[in-house]
Amino acid sequence: MLFSQLRLIEPILKAVESEGYQNPTPIQQKAIPSILKLKDLLGCAQTGTGKTAAFAIPMLQILHMRHLKTNKKAIKALVLTPTRELAIQIQESFSVYGKNLPVKNAVIFGGVGQQPQVDALRKGVDVLVATPGRLLDLMGQGHVNLSELEIFVLDEADRMLDMGFINDVKKVVAKLPQKRQTLFFSATMPPEIEKLANTILKDPVTVEV
Ligand code: AMP
Repeated sequence: MLFSQLRLIEPILKAVESEGYQNPTPIQQKAIPSILKLKDLLGCAQTGTGKTAAFAIPMLQILHMRHLKTNKKAIKALVLTPTRELAIQIQESFSVYGKNLPVKNAVIFGGVGQQPQVDALRKGVDVLVATPGRLLDLMGQGHVNLSELEIFVLDEADRMLDMGFINDVKKVVAKLPQKRQTLFFSATMPPEIEKLANTILKDPVTVEV
């Protein structure tokens, strides 16, 4: 299969091409069409499968097309991921695949000063990539408003559990609008993760690779 068969808009195809990607990986082939149809998704996939592009590419397309005319300043998508390294990688992916689009992103994580992150948020962000603890801190201080959120991604859910972040994740989810698209990724499905998936996903498409 070719990327050009995935109904992607030209600015995204061009960005993917300039990365030198020839073909979409299996998770990209399966997930991108479902996400573009605005379905919730349960993805069982490890890092290294091309999972980041599998969600970032269709999210950029949806947000760009939906807000072409009136791009209100608000966080429209949130990606929660367990570590700072993953958060940075994911944000870089949004920048790379979205380089020909006006969709703005930012990343927040703990262990560093919060002021530069607060300054970045103030400039207006469409896609926010975050680790759970710092996100809750900044939400508590009123620096992050998720009332306009449309797409929520939970990345590496099983690692969130292993690292003791699952209650923080649940606290964030409780603050999100009910009407949203949710994309849930986990390499493994222990019972507690399956339960969480069942509570936050609505009629999801399941993709296993
Ligand atoms: P991920 O699983 O998201 O961590 O991605 C693993 C690596 O695969 C990253 O370095 C991506 O740049 C690369 N990658 C993602 N999709 C493709 C693709 N379709 N073709 C070639 N490389 C890719």
